[in-house]
Amino acid sequence: MMELLGTPRSFICMSTPQGPIRGRLVSLLVVTAVFAVGCVNPESGVIDATAGLPETPAVGVEADNPGAQTPAEANPLPAPSNVPDAPVPSLDDPSMPPVEETPALDFPEPILITEEPPDAGVWGETVVLVEAFWGENFAAFAGSGAYRPLDRDRIVAVDDNDSDLPACDRSRLSVSDIEQNAFAAVCREGQLVAWDDDDLFVDLFERFGATGPAIVIAHEFGHVSQFQAGVLNQATVVIEQQADCLAGAFARWMDDRQIVPFDNAAALDAAVGSTISFRDRPGSSAADPNAHGSGFDRVRAFQDGFESGVEFCAFYDVGFLSGQLTEITFTENDRQTGGNLAFVELIDLVNPYFDDVFGRLVDDWPGLVLAPADLDEWRALHSQIGDNATGLAMALEFGAEAQRQLGLSDGGVGAFLQQTCLAGAAFRPLISTIDGLTPDSLSLSAGDMDEAVLTLSRIVESNQDVLADGFLFEVVDELRTGFTDGFEACGLG
Ligand SMILES: [Zn+2]
Repeated sequence: MMELLGTPRSFICMSTPQGPIRGRLVSLLVVTAVFAVGCVNPESGVIDATAGLPETPAVGVEADNPGAQTPAEANPLPAPSNVPDAPVPSLDDPSMPPVEETPALDFPEPILITEEPPDAGVWGETVVLVEAFWGENFAAFAGSGAYRPLDRDRIVAVDDNDSDLPACDRSRLSVSDIEQNAFAAVCREGQLVAWDDDDLFVDLFERFGATGPAIVIAHEFGHVSQFQAGVLNQATVVIEQQADCLAGAFARWMDDRQIVPFDNAAALDAAVGSTISFRDRPGSSAADPNAHGSGFDRVRAFQDGFESGVEFCAFYDVGFLSGQLTEITFTENDRQTGGNLAFVELIDLVNPYFDDVFGRLVDDWPGLVLAPADLDEWRALHSQIGDNATGLAMALEFGAEAQRQLGLSDGGVGAFLQQTCLAGAAFRPLISTIDGLTPDSLSLSAGDMDEAVLTLSRIVESNQDVLADGFLFEVVDELRTGFTDGFEACGLG
């Protein structure tokens, strides 16, 4: 999670030698994935299908991660296994009612689809919905103009037996071009969207339900709208982050209309799971020509779009995102050590930092004595997820202490959401690029915020009996809110 600047050591990271996190985590995480796809070649405007794909699909959750830019070796994602689950913090007050799912007060007009869906496997209607979304929203994104639907024969669900695939720039696509991937491209023959229908999409459906393929399709048609809006002259990570944001805007449009699969808040949890499963390998650089973003960055972009719509996504540029991206390249020390700081060492370094940060929120801050039972729980999470699992768990405890000192409730789901916001705010100054705020000894390192999301997933999973569908999305949103907007956004009063 963090590294001690100026000294030869660092903590964390997901690419630690202990390998994949195993356990029930995954079923929650499961949903989000696919929109990782494709990278833009700024010269041709092609969203390259194969960029970032593992050359050899690895066995396990990450194997078919079309967005991961590094091959198999990386990305130890949580995968089911025999490793015993770590104990996880419980939300203290199960008698509290679950988080309310607030129905929209005014449902938009039902959409009337008169268009013939493309011959795109079982996803033809999803394509029609995405294009209907763009028919309504293109001008808000691009500033003017209208979305031009793709020719039906340029929307291609590819299966292994296809022998008559369309051409791009006079070169006929082959099945291997699309294996385990999806992409959008500008071709002389017309803009094109294609995906691996009988491997990638089947797998995504099994892991994330219809949300998985739907989000990938939304991400790719986000690229199509970028083509048509002429906004490709940006770093790849900006283009990819914007496509994730646009996919989030589509999810909200579906949610508002209660259209399957977004008629159920569980789809949003699935979206978080699948998004983080498609993250770039920790240690990747956001400046990498294939960068899509860390898991946290990708979820943040999706949630930006979900909450604020295509107009907000249109503001994405290098300047805006440079203050947001947590995709941090490994330092030389990270590479040498695997990035993990020992548990006790981490506690000793992070404890005084949180003491300082939270102490600024409360007059006469008494400090926090860490309970031995907590330490045992955190040690297990630390070893399975990485050192920022400990960082997140500690931040939640400090947040609870701040609540108590301020006379606020520290139990139940509402309090937990606030603690998560406070944790996000506490991590924020650890982006080393924020001058004047970064403590002189600590900074986030690659994968840390992904570990925070994974840890939240574990906590949510372990408390599922008292939580409503959609809670994972909500709690990650709180982490993002605190991280983006600071303590004042967390409602301490
Ligand atoms: Zn993409």
